[in-house]
Amino acid sequence: MDLVTATVFYCFLVAGIFLGLWVYYDRRDHARFEAERRHVPFHCQRCGHLYAVQGDAAQSVCPKCGQENQRLKF
Ligand SMILES: [Zn+2]
Repeated sequence: MDLVTATVFYCFLVAGIFLGLWVYYDRRDHARFEAERRHVPFHCQRCGHLYAVQGDAAQSVCPKCGQENQRLKF
């Protein structure tokens, strides 16, 4: 392998590493943002309190009375 080929190969390797890091961090941040943005609404069956929980929970405890509630379905 001559010097030019080695240099080109090295440049592509470095570019590939940075591209991979960029894609990785971009997807990770996007997933984090989506999880933060998503809220699940709940309606308490005992006290009637309406509240929202971050993430993708199927059931949650009421912050007012502690009753376990299923997520609201529309
Ligand atoms: Zn409640």
